[in-house]
Amino acid sequence: MNLQVLVLPGDGIGTEVTGEAVKVLRHVAQRWKHSLALSEGLLGGIAIHRTGGPFPDETRALALAADATLLGAVGLPEFDNAPPERRPERGLLGIRQALGVYANLRPVRTYAALLDASPLKNHLVDGADMIIVRELTGGIYYGTPRGISGEGASARAVNTMTYTVPEIERVTHMAFSLAQARRRKVTSVDKSNVLENSQLWRRVVTEVAQGYPGVSLDHMLVDNCAMQLVLNPKRFDVVLTENLFGDILSDEGAVLTGSIGMLPSASIGAKKTDGVWVGLYEPVHGSAPDIAGQNKANPLGAIGSVAAMLEYSFGLREEAAAVNRAIEAVLNSGRVTADLKPAGTPSTTSQVGDAILEAI
Ligand code: NAD
Repeated sequence: MNLQVLVLPGDGIGTEVTGEAVKVLRHVAQRWKHSLALSEGLLGGIAIHRTGGPFPDETRALALAADATLLGAVGLPEFDNAPPERRPERGLLGIRQALGVYANLRPVRTYAALLDASPLKNHLVDGADMIIVRELTGGIYYGTPRGISGEGASARAVNTMTYTVPEIERVTHMAFSLAQARRRKVTSVDKSNVLENSQLWRRVVTEVAQGYPGVSLDHMLVDNCAMQLVLNPKRFDVVLTENLFGDILSDEGAVLTGSIGMLPSASIGAKKTDGVWVGLYEPVHGSAPDIAGQNKANPLGAIGSVAAMLEYSFGLREEAAAVNRAIEAVLNSGRVTADLKPAGTPSTTSQVGDAILEAI
């Protein structure tokens, strides 16, 4: 397969973790005989320093030309008090918008070697393996009217939760096609006992589900889901939900597994060519200025994002599974960075990358 991938290392530890992730991508391409066309661009603080803005036109053009984009992290302390248009994080919103990615996928899986790092008891979390599919471009974050009117005690604030049928349909199709390749179970999360918006969500999800007879669907209210995620996380396979609920639930899901350095994410949009989904892949963590430049950052979130890219953008399940197995093997071997190793000598970022190549 021909893999056209844009790499945006970004700021801080972003450059270190993407360096290891690219090493893994090159290795996989070589091992499974895919041709890999890599380009590199600027995003975030480094882009502001070099070009004056966080999301230069050149980066936009590179992103639109690529099949998939691998992003490190953005954010530099010197921009902490800058106006919004000169903040590195603006680059993130810019690229997500430019690519039109409408579904955010957060795989949440536990690893035997990290069970003690979970805030939950081992028996509750051991074996949990789910993916949270969050609608990314609609709902209350974007709906209008919005704003604050009036002054003092008579001030009033409004936000509007809106969804159209096509917006719900496309993300539901995404969740069901993911479920077909997993344990074939979708849990759709809403608040339909209170919100009309959720009533439409539930109706459309139920209709789309008719087209996937091999996949089971259940509906769950968001307050119950928040509770079930910690009481019985193993019951979930694919969790489908709208933007605001997904924002909250995906962070709750994230802490089930231990270190923030472990977590990959994928944002996916339309199909570009047959079989290839446009996607933006990034670890969940930020640029971690406190450890940047020290070869200490955990690269496994970035490497897991490569696995997600192989699976979701390119449909290369065998290769993705090999990377995920390598992550598990490296965790079991104890060759891990300091965030996962409170005692003993930790491995460096690049040693963990090397260990992944060996394990693959
Ligand atoms: P952060 O995720 O960068 O760091 C939080 C803590 O986790 C720090 O102690 C850090 O050392 C640790 N950490 C994070 N990733 C790690 C890794 N891979 N290995 C080991 N330890 C790791 O969050 P923050 O400190 O709140 O933000 C720092 C900067 O990153 C800010 O400018 C923020 O705006 C930006 N940020 C960017 C993104 C993104 O690019 N998607 C996400 C979150 C924060």
